[in-house]
Amino acid sequence: MREITSVAVLTSGGDSPGMNAAIRGVVRTALSYGITVFGIHRGFTGLLQNDMELLSSASVSNIVQRGGTFLKSARCPEFHDPACRKQAAKILHTRNIEALLVIGGDGSLTGAHLLEEETGIPVIGLPGTIDNDIFGTEDTIGFDTAMNTALDAIDRIRDTADSHERHFLVEVMGRNSGFLATHVGIAAGAEMILVPEYSVNIAEIALQLATSRKAGTGSSGIIVVAEGNEPDLTSKIAHELQQHGLAPHISILGHIQRGGRPSGHDRVLASCLGAVAIEYLLAGYSDIMVGVSNGEVVDIPLDDLIRYRKGLDPELLKIALQLHK
Ligand code: ADP
Repeated sequence: MREITSVAVLTSGGDSPGMNAAIRGVVRTALSYGITVFGIHRGFTGLLQNDMELLSSASVSNIVQRGGTFLKSARCPEFHDPACRKQAAKILHTRNIEALLVIGGDGSLTGAHLLEEETGIPVIGLPGTIDNDIFGTEDTIGFDTAMNTALDAIDRIRDTADSHERHFLVEVMGRNSGFLATHVGIAAGAEMILVPEYSVNIAEIALQLATSRKAGTGSSGIIVVAEGNEPDLTSKIAHELQQHGLAPHISILGHIQRGGRPSGHDRVLASCLGAVAIEYLLAGYSDIMVGVSNGEVVDIPLDDLIRYRKGLDPELLKIALQLHK
């Protein structure tokens, strides 16, 4: 067993519901082994500013049910610079902090990997993102909550779509990944799902929608669109559909998908990953992320996360489309 007396934890990148539960899991487990825990404010930015507090068991009371992250999160462009990562390691050494736990998306976990690789500070990553786009894990902290938040909104939108016999383009988050859109689309019974992984033939979509409208089987409908990387993608799709005789409404769900009370699933996932992260650290592991594979908690080398991309399962999209024939 590795001897550790002091660790630090931070949340970085886009916040996700369940990050608080993950911090709590880390803190309470570490304290149970007599390990001191520092909470770093505002991600890598706070680390570079030596801005941190000592956390007690009481510091993480009454947070398991709260969205966001009480340690705050930030984007820190300086962390791309190796000199700044060296500075971060110096700050950790000065405080006698022997390991760092990073809760965040693939960007944050890349930064964590580079910190260990270049400075030798042991790091453990926890996947915290609503996008569920991290290689090596089938689930991420916040994905389930975000999916249910989007579904709640879409179920309401469908009532209006149905009453007014209109189509709605509903934009969900997902710049590079269609995981959220695909799961939301299936669960909402969407008529179509548009994701960045597959190019969109708008003329074909318009034809399908117009045909089912004429046949009396599709006077209204929900088209779930992942936001993608192109600015105003959903407006552009709406404009194109107008050229083909349809008049869809647009609803952009935006940041409501990020916040809110974490679901029971995310609270359990975050708590378990927080606890296991400390167990793995004590067992001698580092430069890994704790994740889930086939329903089991696993460790994934952070190097793999950077090297490989998680692909959207084409079978899942096929199923989604088959359900709306
Ligand atoms: P997320 O972690 O949600 O994917 P970002 O991609 O914005 O969010 O990354 C969050 C932070 O992680 C960045 O602001 C930066 O501090 C750090 N980071 C991201 N990518 C790298 C990288 N390639 N090298 C070093 N640090 C990085």
